[in-house]
Amino acid sequence: MWIPSIHISRSCEKRRMNESTKAFLKSAYKEYYFKESDSVELPDDIGSREFGYIPFGGGMVRHLSFGSQGEALAEILRQSPSSVYCSNARYEFPTRPIDEKGWLGAELIFDIDATDISTSCKRSHDQWYCEKCFTSGRLPRPAKCPKCGGSAVEFHGVCEECLDAAKEHAARVVGFLTEDFGVDPGAVKIYFSGNRGYHLHIFDPRFDSLGQQARAEIAEYMKGSTLPPPQSLAATLRRRMPEGPQGAGWTKRVTGYVAERNQNYGGTLQKLVSEAVASQRALVDASVTTDIHRVFRLAGTLHGDTGMAKKQVKSMAQFDPQEAPVVLSSRPVKLSVSYYPRYRIKHRDFGPFESEVVELPTFAAVSILTRGLGEVA
Ligand SMILES: [Zn+2]
Ligand SMILES: [Zn+2]
Repeated sequence: MWIPSIHISRSCEKRRMNESTKAFLKSAYKEYYFKESDSVELPDDIGSREFGYIPFGGGMVRHLSFGSQGEALAEILRQSPSSVYCSNARYEFPTRPIDEKGWLGAELIFDIDATDISTSCKRSHDQWYCEKCFTSGRLPRPAKCPKCGGSAVEFHGVCEECLDAAKEHAARVVGFLTEDFGVDPGAVKIYFSGNRGYHLHIFDPRFDSLGQQARAEIAEYMKGSTLPPPQSLAATLRRRMPEGPQGAGWTKRVTGYVAERNQNYGGTLQKLVSEAVASQRALVDASVTTDIHRVFRLAGTLHGDTGMAKKQVKSMAQFDPQEAPVVLSSRPVKLSVSYYPRYRIKHRDFGPFESEVVELPTFAAVSILTRGLGEVA
């Protein structure tokens, strides 16, 4: 039963969209859910999970619950919404307001987003544009459009380089979990988020009862933000230069890195220590890990901005985020595009587009339509 629920609107998720665009997106998503319903990963203990969704052009609906996997799938297919979410927490009463749900525990989760990792490619695909006249330029974004005074918004693109960086950070999270926290590698499920990063779900019951504070400590540890500053680490090392990795955890990471590179290194020890930390920390989004009442994108469902699937990564080396999660059809669709920078999907370049009608494969058209920068013509 799809239980009536509270509607929460998030302004950023409500995009202007005409009826034919909404209908097109819904039918494209429906086709996927119809053909690939086996790809949707529903939890076994489904009755204790909270579900949520965002319809195309609408706001967030949450505090939903299902009695069985079949019921959930039928509703996902019927709605074919922009996004589907499921709690990583288990509750006694998943449909009640947050403080009356009866929290029973939550799997530990991590979110890595390419946007948070500074890579040199950002300059080539991140920019600002004016919502009114579509003037665009390099970041930082001006307060107002210099041409017409309209509001300037940021556009974050993505490319192979930043997706590789995100993948590398996801691999580091796995390293921290298995080496420092003794997690069985089989308990870590890695997913491409469907947009610009990776989600990690940890199925290790030792973490399930942890509160926000403990989860924050794990996230900050992985980010290296709890380490002493580089100058004091360097001072410690200077007293006794390591000949190889020593100790465990971050100590092992920093000493191993410094010992290996110190011989032919031209810079200062402090700089080398900074490098040791920067090259091994995992830039997880701590706010995701610490939110124990979150609804998180359901594995196997489509991302509302891109039409790409949140797809499990079985082999980090072989997973290709430009290919594997691109699950929508290649059927051509005509769009009238106001503005869209050059982008890349399925290893093909599209755009840039400006006030023109273009024909694109469905998988490449979705992100233009969901951002409200084009309509089905
Ligand atoms: Zn303008
Ligand atoms: Zn990039």
